[in-house]
Amino acid sequence: MAGEKDPLPPGSTIGILGGGQLGRMLAMAAAQIGFKTHIFSPEEDCPAFQVASDGTLAAYDDEAALTTFAGYADVITYEFENVPARAAEILSPLKPVRPAPKALAIAQDRLIEKNFLQENGIDTAPFVSVADRAGAAFAAGKIGVPGILKTRRFGYDGKGQAKITEGKLAAAAFDLIGAPAIYEGFVDFEREISIIAARGLNGTVESYDVVENIHEHHILSQTLVPARIGKGESDTAKAIATRVLSALDYVGVMGIEMFLTRDLRVLVNEFAPRVHNSGHWTLDACGISQFEQHIRAICGWPLGSPSRHSDAIMRNLIGDDVFSWPKLVTEPNAHLHLYGKSEARPARKMGHVTYLFAKGHRPEK
Ligand code: AMP
Repeated sequence: MAGEKDPLPPGSTIGILGGGQLGRMLAMAAAQIGFKTHIFSPEEDCPAFQVASDGTLAAYDDEAALTTFAGYADVITYEFENVPARAAEILSPLKPVRPAPKALAIAQDRLIEKNFLQENGIDTAPFVSVADRAGAAFAAGKIGVPGILKTRRFGYDGKGQAKITEGKLAAAAFDLIGAPAIYEGFVDFEREISIIAARGLNGTVESYDVVENIHEHHILSQTLVPARIGKGESDTAKAIATRVLSALDYVGVMGIEMFLTRDLRVLVNEFAPRVHNSGHWTLDACGISQFEQHIRAICGWPLGSPSRHSDAIMRNLIGDDVFSWPKLVTEPNAHLHLYGKSEARPARKMGHVTYLFAKGHRPEK
């Protein structure tokens, strides 16, 4: 009988919780190396259903649907970190869930996440837990202003956050957030960088090159590959990735977002226990994309080389940007990826385009 550590053979089925573009690109990568995928999504019109072998349309708290879904899958993963912990608890005894639910539980709560990082010797912005209005005012006094008040849970793309510029405004900001929060010192960063790293079932870690991210309205707008940083900072980022993945006994791909401070310290902002938007360039600039790397890891296959044959700029196509596709397809070095979403709502990630350049010949932005 096959053991837990044996590689899953092609033809096996990968269950994926979440049906967004990350699930879609995971399903496409899985298909390339002979796997079937079964998507579990609460949304009918989702990008991943269009390309997966099969799907379940049900809520994440539908215990019967989760149990049936586990019956179809040989291994289960997720493309979305806000899957309720209870769903992972139901699935884990039934089939291998990779990465293990512990990584989800930590990444879902900014306070637990920052404590975990600090316990592992990884630097972050200074932070304090905030339980109520008085706590918010205390935190602003202790850490100083400017700072950012963030909800501990379910925040993304800048949602559930308020920048505090004066201590006396902190209590009112807490009222708006209205949930357990964390107050962080504002990092006057030189650059925002991230790293996409993978850990295999045998403990091997492979990291892609460190990249630089430019946000607009709190949403990732562009990723520059490689980041405009020195070798020392890049090595620090890679060492952090290895430490985080090993401490979690992690299996799969993770995206870790960091700040490079003006005095060249690397601070971790947060990590996503899944494939990551700032790794989409790997589809076109590497032999093995982050999506294939994740599938390889969770299926117990050897990891692929994360090496890169080109420099790149990845641009997200957000909302109406997607209507520029007729022009984008005529640009010779542009690689277009569209997610099959029917409605181009503002702030919605509709696709991305990656421009490739010979190494050392990438324009500034
Ligand atoms: P987050 O939701 O934590 O990923 O934050 C979204 C964006 O807000 C980050 O990518 C940064 O641009 C900015 N940001 C978050 N936390 C801080 C901080 N402590 N100092 C400065 N900027 C921050």
